Amino acid sequence: MELKGKVALVTGAGSGIGRAAAIRLANEGAAILGTDRDRLGLEQTAGDAAKAAAFQLVEADVTSEADWAECVAITERNWGGLDILVAAAGISRATQIEQLDYAEWSEVLSVNLSGVFLAVRNCVPLMEARGGGSIVIVSSASGIKAAPGASAYAASKSGLRGFAKSIAAELGPRGIRVNTIFPGAVRTSMWRSMPFFQELERAQGEEAAWRTIATGTPLGRVASPEEIAEGILYLASKRSSFVTGSEMVMDGGYTA
Ligand code: NAD
Repeated sequence: MELKGKVALVTGAGSGIGRAAAIRLANEGAAILGTDRDRLGLEQTAGDAAKAAAFQLVEADVTSEADWAECVAITERNWGGLDILVAAAGISRATQIEQLDYAEWSEVLSVNLSGVFLAVRNCVPLMEARGGGSIVIVSSASGIKAAPGASAYAASKSGLRGFAKSIAAELGPRGIRVNTIFPGAVRTSMWRSMPFFQELERAQGEEAAWRTIATGTPLGRVASPEEIAEGILYLASKRSSFVTGSEMVMDGGYTA
């Protein structure tokens, strides 16, 4: 119960990595404010996070300033501040450059990059109210290595590197640590919703499709969301008390 008495806000808590992180932090005794635009997903996470000191779910879009104002108000009312932010909400699109239009480019940048900016911007005052905190940003191996056919996604995820390092330097003196996780391929609905994965699955079956996705990963498989949540827990907790501005690559060796 190493997060007993702590309050954590997790974006994208309705599915995949965000869900696993919310449950992992809850299992260590944290109170969770889980946000997502998918209410049903959030309800499932809340049901699975039975050990949480409290689980407040808020249907919210990370790109909406009004939704952030609501999340801040709820956090202040319930707990008076915040100790941990996990920014996991994100979207992925696979589109070749000639077909990539400005609307799709903007959508990806808006959710994956501006959505994290808004999360941090709104949560910093809540953390200062508690004398400091820990921010964990979920980027991607595609923020480090080329992602052919997913250039908007890669741009958003590498953009997070500069953002995270800059705010780590800016917020360190105020007792707020900022670290980034770079997962490789993880078994979540982000892949399942992509047409090319669905085609692979139809042609090969699900397990073979995941093995194909893991091509180029030395460990020879994709990760589970729970494996990534272990890294998030480390960076969120005081076990990483001297770690800030760091980049934790959790990709089975994909970028090695
Ligand atoms: P997922 O689709 O399972 O979960 C993403 C969640 O974010 C969903 O519940 C979705 O509803 C939510 N979301 C999307 N847009 C939102 C918005 N505008 N406002 C609020 N919520 C929104 O995917 P995942 O794989 O768990 O992805 C989580 C994070 O991990 C993403 O940032 C993703 O880019 C990153 N990531 C995933 C992988 C992977 O292989 N799955 C690899 C590297 C990085």
